[in-house]
Amino acid sequence: MMQDVSGHILIVEDEPRLAAVLGEYLQAAGYTHHWIDDGALALEAFRTQVPDLVLLDLMLPNRDGLDICRDLQRFGAVPVIMMTARASEIDRLLGLKIGADDYICKPFSPREVIARVHAVLRRHRQVPGSMAARGLLIDEAACRASVDGRPLDLTQVEFRLLRTLAASPGRVYSREHLMERLYADHRIVTDRAVDSHIKNLRRKLVEVGAGDWIRSVYGVGYRFEA
Ligand code: CA
Repeated sequence: MMQDVSGHILIVEDEPRLAAVLGEYLQAAGYTHHWIDDGALALEAFRTQVPDLVLLDLMLPNRDGLDICRDLQRFGAVPVIMMTARASEIDRLLGLKIGADDYICKPFSPREVIARVHAVLRRHRQVPGSMAARGLLIDEAACRASVDGRPLDLTQVEFRLLRTLAASPGRVYSREHLMERLYADHRIVTDRAVDSHIKNLRRKLVEVGAGDWIRSVYGVGYRFEA
């Protein structure tokens, strides 16, 4: 399976049958997911689940999708697909510029939702133009990266680290967040393990002539800057 058709999806949806169908289709497509049915639980679930994408219903008990989507933007670059019951709502939401990446109107075909999830994640995981201009190339399918055509000899963990950081230049990642992204099996690792992977990745970047692209953010973690 290609690397970019995987990821962890948070479903915020108060209709259990709909959520169950979405969950089944996501699983069949190679994604893991976590479902919550209460708007008030969304932020907490977001923090603990560290999803790659959020499927967010608009009308939810206790807290609506609009509020949640606005809050999620403060956490940085997580893509959001809004699901709404009425097509007319989509126009209104677009006008409000709430920052969702895509909008889907109910009733929808689960197949269509999965296709949108693929598309949005693919877009988000592409190396931004500014990075490509600096010569960084990330080949998701082959799990390889290069700088100005010079291949980087990375371990799998270093590759994921680079991919995660480079996908959102300027975004600050905590060590905890990075740990979640690095180890698919969620094994327990220490902060120091992340620091040591970062150190090795930095060295390898410098060896192929890249700049000091990975910056430490004191007391928080790391960010990518080129
Ligand atoms: Ca609803």
